[in-house]
Amino acid sequence: MVEKVYITYNQIHKLCQDAAPRILADFTPTLMIAIGGGGYVPARILRSFLKKPGNPNIPIQAIGLSLYESLPTDSQVETPGTKVTRTQWLDLSSLEMANLIGKNVLIVDEVDDTRTTLEYAVKELQQDVATAARNSGREAEMGSTKFSIFVLHNKDKEKRGVLPKDMIDENRYLAARTVPDVWINYPWEAADIDEHDRLATQQTIQ
Ligand code: 5GP
Repeated sequence: MVEKVYITYNQIHKLCQDAAPRILADFTPTLMIAIGGGGYVPARILRSFLKKPGNPNIPIQAIGLSLYESLPTDSQVETPGTKVTRTQWLDLSSLEMANLIGKNVLIVDEVDDTRTTLEYAVKELQQDVATAARNSGREAEMGSTKFSIFVLHNKDKEKRGVLPKDMIDENRYLAARTVPDVWINYPWEAADIDEHDRLATQQTIQ
Protein backbone atom coordinates (compact mmCIF):
# COMPACT_ATOMS: atom_id res chain seq x y z
CA MET A 1 0.00 0.00 0.00
CA VAL A 2 1.21 3.52 -0.79
CA GLU A 3 2.28 5.37 2.32
CA LYS A 4 0.37 8.59 3.06
CA VAL A 5 1.88 11.68 4.57
CA TYR A 6 0.08 14.72 5.94
CA ILE A 7 1.39 18.24 5.41
CA THR A 8 0.06 21.17 7.45
CA TYR A 9 -0.48 24.80 6.41
CA ASN A 10 2.22 25.75 8.86
CA GLN A 11 4.75 23.43 7.25
CA ILE A 12 3.85 24.75 3.79
CA HIS A 13 4.33 28.32 4.98
CA LYS A 14 7.79 27.43 6.27
CA LEU A 15 8.71 25.47 3.13
CA CYS A 16 7.93 28.60 1.05
CA GLN A 17 9.83 30.86 3.45
CA ASP A 18 12.83 28.56 3.39
CA ALA A 19 12.81 28.24 -0.42
CA ALA A 20 12.40 31.95 -1.27
CA PRO A 21 16.06 32.97 -0.76
CA ARG A 22 17.16 29.91 -2.76
CA ILE A 23 14.89 30.95 -5.65
CA LEU A 24 16.13 34.56 -5.49
CA ALA A 25 19.77 33.42 -5.54
CA ASP A 26 19.47 32.38 -9.19
CA PHE A 27 16.35 34.10 -10.51
CA THR A 28 14.31 37.24 -9.87
CA PRO A 29 10.70 36.41 -10.76
CA THR A 30 8.69 39.24 -12.28
CA LEU A 31 5.54 37.16 -12.68
CA MET A 32 4.18 33.95 -11.17
CA ILE A 33 1.94 31.38 -12.80
CA ALA A 34 0.17 29.13 -10.33
CA ILE A 35 -0.98 25.76 -11.61
CA GLY A 36 -4.40 25.16 -10.10
CA GLY A 37 -5.54 24.04 -7.71
CA GLY A 38 -2.44 22.88 -5.78
CA GLY A 39 -0.22 25.78 -6.84
CA TYR A 40 -2.51 28.58 -5.63
CA VAL A 41 -1.79 28.57 -1.90
CA PRO A 42 1.99 28.03 -2.22
CA ALA A 43 2.19 30.81 -4.85
CA ARG A 44 0.43 33.29 -2.56
CA ILE A 45 2.60 32.45 0.44
CA LEU A 46 5.78 32.48 -1.64
CA ARG A 47 4.94 35.92 -3.01
CA SER A 48 5.27 37.45 0.45
CA PHE A 49 8.77 36.03 0.82
CA LEU A 50 9.89 36.95 -2.72
CA LYS A 51 8.88 40.60 -2.36
CA LYS A 52 11.82 42.94 -2.12
CA PRO A 53 11.40 46.13 -0.05
CA GLY A 54 10.27 49.02 -2.22
CA ASN A 55 9.27 46.74 -5.10
CA PRO A 56 5.65 46.01 -6.01
CA ASN A 57 4.06 42.62 -5.31
CA ILE A 58 4.78 40.03 -7.99
CA PRO A 59 1.56 39.44 -9.98
CA ILE A 60 0.13 35.90 -9.89
CA GLN A 61 -1.69 34.48 -12.88
CA ALA A 62 -3.46 31.14 -12.84
CA ILE A 63 -3.71 28.19 -15.19
CA GLY A 64 -5.64 24.98 -14.60
CA LEU A 65 -4.27 21.62 -15.72
CA SER A 66 -5.68 18.19 -15.16
CA LEU A 67 -3.96 14.86 -15.65
CA TYR A 68 -6.35 12.29 -17.06
CA GLU A 69 -6.03 8.67 -16.05
CA SER A 70 -5.99 6.18 -18.89
CA LEU A 71 -6.97 2.87 -17.38
CA PRO A 72 -6.68 -0.23 -19.55
CA THR A 73 -10.02 -2.06 -19.45
CA ASP A 74 -8.49 -5.55 -19.35
CA SER A 75 -6.16 -4.96 -16.45
CA GLN A 76 -6.35 -4.17 -12.74
CA VAL A 77 -3.07 -2.32 -12.94
CA GLU A 78 -3.40 1.39 -12.47
CA THR A 79 -1.34 3.42 -14.94
CA PRO A 80 -0.40 6.99 -14.14
CA GLY A 81 -2.22 9.68 -16.11
CA THR A 82 -0.60 10.50 -19.40
CA LYS A 83 -2.76 13.17 -20.99
CA VAL A 84 -2.87 16.71 -19.68
CA THR A 85 -5.87 18.87 -20.46
CA ARG A 86 -6.28 22.58 -19.93
CA THR A 87 -9.14 23.50 -17.62
CA GLN A 88 -8.01 27.13 -17.54
CA TRP A 89 -5.42 28.93 -19.66
CA LEU A 90 -4.12 32.40 -20.40
CA ASP A 91 -5.90 34.14 -23.22
CA LEU A 92 -3.59 34.09 -26.24
CA SER A 93 -5.42 36.90 -27.99
CA SER A 94 -5.36 39.28 -25.04
CA LEU A 95 -2.67 41.05 -23.04
CA GLU A 96 -2.41 38.04 -20.69
CA MET A 97 -0.01 36.08 -22.86
CA ALA A 98 1.83 39.14 -24.24
CA ASN A 99 2.42 40.05 -20.61
CA LEU A 100 4.85 37.12 -20.33
CA ILE A 101 7.18 38.30 -23.12
CA GLY A 102 10.63 39.15 -21.76
CA LYS A 103 9.62 38.29 -18.17
CA ASN A 104 11.10 36.00 -15.55
CA VAL A 105 8.16 33.67 -15.04
CA LEU A 106 8.01 31.43 -11.97
CA ILE A 107 5.67 28.45 -12.41
CA VAL A 108 4.36 27.15 -9.08
CA ASP A 109 2.77 23.79 -8.30
CA GLU A 110 2.43 21.73 -5.15
CA VAL A 111 4.00 18.44 -6.24
CA ASP A 112 6.17 17.05 -9.01
CA ASP A 113 5.11 13.42 -9.30
CA THR A 114 5.57 11.98 -12.82
CA ARG A 115 6.51 15.49 -14.09
CA THR A 116 3.95 15.17 -16.92
CA THR A 117 2.07 18.31 -15.81
CA LEU A 118 5.20 20.43 -15.47
CA GLU A 119 6.56 19.33 -18.85
CA TYR A 120 3.24 20.27 -20.42
CA ALA A 121 3.04 23.65 -18.66
CA VAL A 122 6.56 24.72 -19.66
CA LYS A 123 6.29 23.53 -23.28
CA GLU A 124 2.88 25.07 -23.90
CA LEU A 125 3.64 28.36 -22.17
CA GLN A 126 6.91 28.70 -24.11
CA GLN A 127 5.11 27.98 -27.37
CA ASP A 128 2.25 30.38 -26.70
CA VAL A 129 4.51 33.21 -25.54
CA ALA A 130 6.57 32.76 -28.73
CA THR A 131 3.36 33.01 -30.78
CA ALA A 132 2.29 36.13 -28.85
CA ALA A 133 5.75 37.66 -29.45
CA ARG A 134 5.52 36.92 -33.19
CA ASN A 135 2.00 38.31 -33.41
CA SER A 136 2.98 41.56 -31.72
CA GLY A 137 6.31 42.03 -33.55
CA ARG A 138 8.28 41.52 -30.32
CA GLU A 139 10.35 38.46 -31.37
CA ALA A 140 13.54 40.23 -30.25
CA GLU A 141 12.36 40.15 -26.62
CA MET A 142 11.58 36.43 -26.71
CA GLY A 143 15.18 35.45 -25.88
CA SER A 144 14.94 37.17 -22.51
CA THR A 145 11.76 35.29 -21.50
CA LYS A 146 12.79 32.82 -18.83
CA PHE A 147 10.77 30.18 -17.02
CA SER A 148 11.57 28.66 -13.68
CA ILE A 149 9.70 26.16 -11.51
CA PHE A 150 8.97 25.91 -7.82
CA VAL A 151 7.24 22.95 -6.20
CA LEU A 152 6.77 22.14 -2.54
CA HIS A 153 7.55 18.45 -3.04
CA ASN A 154 9.47 16.52 -5.65
CA LYS A 155 8.95 12.76 -5.53
CA ASP A 156 12.21 10.91 -5.91
CA LYS A 157 11.22 8.55 -8.74
CA GLU A 158 11.69 7.95 -12.43
CA LYS A 159 10.01 10.82 -14.28
CA ARG A 160 7.86 10.55 -17.36
CA GLY A 161 8.08 14.26 -18.15
CA VAL A 162 11.23 16.09 -19.19
CA LEU A 163 12.12 19.70 -18.44
CA PRO A 164 14.35 21.90 -20.64
CA LYS A 165 18.05 21.19 -20.07
CA ASP A 166 18.93 24.87 -19.60
CA MET A 167 16.28 25.14 -16.87
CA ILE A 168 17.95 22.36 -14.88
CA ASP A 169 21.52 23.52 -15.67
CA GLU A 170 20.76 27.09 -14.58
CA ASN A 171 19.08 26.03 -11.32
CA ARG A 172 15.68 27.19 -12.49
CA TYR A 173 13.95 24.14 -11.02
CA LEU A 174 13.60 24.12 -7.27
CA ALA A 175 11.75 21.76 -4.93
CA ALA A 176 11.43 22.78 -1.29
CA ARG A 177 11.70 19.09 -0.34
CA THR A 178 12.53 15.89 -2.16
CA VAL A 179 10.47 13.04 -0.75
CA PRO A 180 10.10 9.30 -1.41
CA ASP A 181 7.31 8.10 -3.69
CA VAL A 182 4.53 8.50 -1.11
CA TRP A 183 1.03 10.00 -1.36
CA ILE A 184 0.93 13.48 0.10
CA ASN A 185 -2.25 14.82 1.71
CA TYR A 186 -2.31 18.60 1.48
CA PRO A 187 -4.33 20.59 4.03
CA TRP A 188 -6.59 22.26 1.46
CA GLU A 189 -7.99 18.81 0.62
CA ALA A 190 -8.77 17.92 4.24
CA ALA A 191 -12.37 17.26 5.25
CA ASP A 192 -11.36 17.55 8.91
CA ILE A 193 -8.40 19.91 9.29
CA ASP A 194 -7.92 19.17 13.02
CA GLU A 195 -7.69 15.43 12.34
CA HIS A 196 -5.36 16.17 9.40
CA ASP A 197 -3.06 18.21 11.65
CA ARG A 198 -3.17 15.51 14.33
CA LEU A 199 -2.10 12.87 11.81
CA ALA A 200 0.67 15.18 10.60
CA THR A 201 2.20 15.39 14.09
CA GLN A 202 2.49 11.59 14.20
CA GLN A 203 4.84 11.24 11.26
CA THR A 204 8.42 12.00 10.37
CA ILE A 205 8.36 13.53 6.86
CA GLN A 206 8.00 17.32 7.15
P1 5GP B 1 2.40 14.83 -12.29
O1 5GP B 1 2.30 13.34 -12.28
O2 5GP B 1 2.00 15.42 -13.61
O3 5GP B 1 3.77 15.31 -11.83
O4 5GP B 1 1.37 15.36 -11.20
C1 5GP B 1 0.07 15.64 -11.58
C2 5GP B 1 -0.80 16.09 -10.45
O5 5GP B 1 -1.17 14.94 -9.71
C3 5GP B 1 -0.22 17.04 -9.42
O6 5GP B 1 -0.24 18.40 -9.81
C4 5GP B 1 -1.16 16.80 -8.26
O7 5GP B 1 -2.34 17.55 -8.42
C5 5GP B 1 -1.47 15.31 -8.41
N1 5GP B 1 -0.63 14.55 -7.46
C6 5GP B 1 0.42 13.77 -7.76
N2 5GP B 1 0.94 13.23 -6.65
C7 5GP B 1 0.20 13.70 -5.62
C8 5GP B 1 0.23 13.52 -4.19
O8 5GP B 1 1.07 12.83 -3.62
N3 5GP B 1 -0.71 14.17 -3.48
C9 5GP B 1 -1.67 14.96 -4.04
N4 5GP B 1 -2.55 15.54 -3.23
N5 5GP B 1 -1.74 15.15 -5.38
C10 5GP B 1 -0.81 14.53 -6.15
